[in-house]
Amino acid sequence: MSLSGARGIAAVSRNPGCELQAAMVAEQVIEPDFYRAVTGRVYEREFGMRESQRKRGVTFEANLYANEAGLLRQAVRDIAGVDPADMRVRNLADEVTGARPFVVRSLRYKRTRRILADLAAGRPVPELVVQPQLVLPTGDDLRDYTHIGPDFMVLDALLAMYVPGEIKSFIVRGGVADAGDLDPTRRQAGVEILALRAVAGSLGLEGRITDEAVFVFATPYGLRPYPAIREDLKAEVYEMRKAVRLVAGVRERVAGLRATVETPLAMLVDELQTDYQEGCIGTCVLADECRRRSVGTARILGDVAADVFGADADLGRVLELLAGAPPEDQRERDVLPSLLSAMAILNLSADDLRRLVA
Ligand code: SF4
Repeated sequence: MSLSGARGIAAVSRNPGCELQAAMVAEQVIEPDFYRAVTGRVYEREFGMRESQRKRGVTFEANLYANEAGLLRQAVRDIAGVDPADMRVRNLADEVTGARPFVVRSLRYKRTRRILADLAAGRPVPELVVQPQLVLPTGDDLRDYTHIGPDFMVLDALLAMYVPGEIKSFIVRGGVADAGDLDPTRRQAGVEILALRAVAGSLGLEGRITDEAVFVFATPYGLRPYPAIREDLKAEVYEMRKAVRLVAGVRERVAGLRATVETPLAMLVDELQTDYQEGCIGTCVLADECRRRSVGTARILGDVAADVFGADADLGRVLELLAGAPPEDQRERDVLPSLLSAMAILNLSADDLRRLVA
């Protein structure tokens, strides 16, 4: 799986202090291959979504798309403002298939763009488009873009504009999804809104686009959907715009590093800033490597400790100060009271800290 599309931009937004990850997204690296190029080792752990979760997601989506997207039509009926039986559907996943993902995405993009052009021209369009494909510019060069594939887009009858949609198989109880599940979904949808704005904006539809997306979640009863939920994602769209700018900036920086010799990104990792934090675990293929490089600093104790001690604080020196060593300069005199209260906040003794650092 390559670090591209909405997943890549969303990852950058979660850790904007990490230039390395932004560079990985700019170059759309294949994560296990990149890990091997950086470390010389094969990546052997399960990465990303667990297999059982992935299967559940695939089954849920297939249920919703079956029979001319019958269940999905039901779920989005209120947004489309059309009886599901009368809803026109285009399923681009059925229309365009093939073994070459880039070609398939490009052809689906052409069709999506044509549908949006029809909308702009007032010609008839489907109320529901399954697996549309958009492109999001990520730099000034025409080659700097990434494909973005919402699960669907539904035509809002009042706005006369499509709203991107995501299908997620995690279970919602009492209308509320787990915050940990929702965050990546909302970020992903934020990227989709930006991509829709980029494509539709170029066709004169800019004024009709809102910062909203639609989510279809699973009920606890089998793999059936709840009615679609529509959410305002202004904050996420703002964050994703910043992440896109970061990717563009890092691409330029990497180009500068290559000005004299064309060097693979894997050989430039030491030139790029990283910001190891708890959230890296399970989301970035280099988490173990960055953790290893952070040994001896407060980062490896977690985000709270990194906040109170300072992420790059030398834990060896922290231990000495806590053991009663006299401060050697004004900075250490300033930081000592904070260290003592931080230990109290974290409920850590000097021995606990020593064990964690070991
Ligand atoms: S693991 Fe390293 S490269 Fe990946 S996001 Fe964290 S700091 Fe950046």
